[in-house]
Amino acid sequence: MIKFENVSVTYPGGVEALKNLNLDIEEGEFLIIVGLSGAGKSTLLRTTNGLVMPTSGEVYVDGQKITKSNKKELKKIRSRIGMIFQTFNLVNRTSVLKNVLTGRLHSVSVLRSTLGIWPQEDKDIAFKSLEQVEIIEKAYVRASNLSGGQQQRVGIARALAQQPTVMLADEPVASLDPVTSRVVMKYLKKINEDLGITTIVNLHFLDLAKEFGERLIGLKDGELVYDGKISDVTDKDFQNIYGRDIKSSDFIGDDE
Ligand code: ADP
Ligand code: MG
Repeated sequence: MIKFENVSVTYPGGVEALKNLNLDIEEGEFLIIVGLSGAGKSTLLRTTNGLVMPTSGEVYVDGQKITKSNKKELKKIRSRIGMIFQTFNLVNRTSVLKNVLTGRLHSVSVLRSTLGIWPQEDKDIAFKSLEQVEIIEKAYVRASNLSGGQQQRVGIARALAQQPTVMLADEPVASLDPVTSRVVMKYLKKINEDLGITTIVNLHFLDLAKEFGERLIGLKDGELVYDGKISDVTDKDFQNIYGRDIKSSDFIGDDE
C-alpha cells in the first residue's frame, strides 16, 4: 500500500530529517510512529502525501510512484489521503458540517463551494462521516464551541469525508488530556477496523501506542531504529528510540 525505498529527506539548510528509510506498509494496517521531537515523524507523513519530496529514494502509495507524479496526479493521490493534525486545523467560525464538507472540496467546483452549494451526495457523505465519530448532533454548532476532543473528532470526520484509502494523523492527541486522547485514539482504531483504511499515527509517547497499536516504527534523528510489534519492544529498543538511559517503566510523559 505504502512503500518507502531508500528515502532520504534533506531540508534546505542541511537538516537530514530522514536517512535512507525503507518501509513497507500493508493495506489496512494501523501503524504507530514514535520518536522524540525532531526525529522526523512529521516529515515521514508529509513525504507520504507528497507535501515533501524526498531528496533521494522513492515513495509509492497505492501502486503509484509519488516521486514521479506530476501536479495533477499528485492532487489526485492526495485527495484520497486524509490528514489529521495536532491542532485540529478547523475553521472556528463556521459550523461543524461546513468544516467536514471541506473534505469534499476535491470533488466540487470552486464556485459551488464558495457559494456554499453542496450536492446532496456530498452532504450525505459528510453526515455519514460525523456519524462514524458519533458527533452528528453537533453538525450545526460552530466549531469553536466544541471541546478539544470533539474538535479532533470533527477533524477525523473531515478526513473521512475525503473517502480516503490512507489516513495520516500527526500527533493527533498531543493537545488533549489523557482521557480524551484515548477517546480519539479509539475512533481512529475503530475507523481503521471498520473501514479498512490504512492508518499511520504519529505519537510522542509509547504508552498510547501500547494500548492501541500493533506495529510500531521508532524514529531517531531521521533513522529507523525500530520496526516490529509493539508488544516486543524491549528496554533496549526504548533507549534506541528515545536515546536515554532509562527504562520504559521509568518514563513519565512530558510532551514538548
Ligand atoms: P518530528 O515531527 O518528529 O518532530 P520533523 O519531521 O518535524 O520531526 O523534523 C525533523 C527535522 O527536520 C527537525 O530537525 C526539524 O527541525 C527539521 N525540519 C522540519 N521541517 C523543516 C523545514 N520545513 N525546513 C527545515 N527543516 C525542517
Ligand atoms: Mg512533528
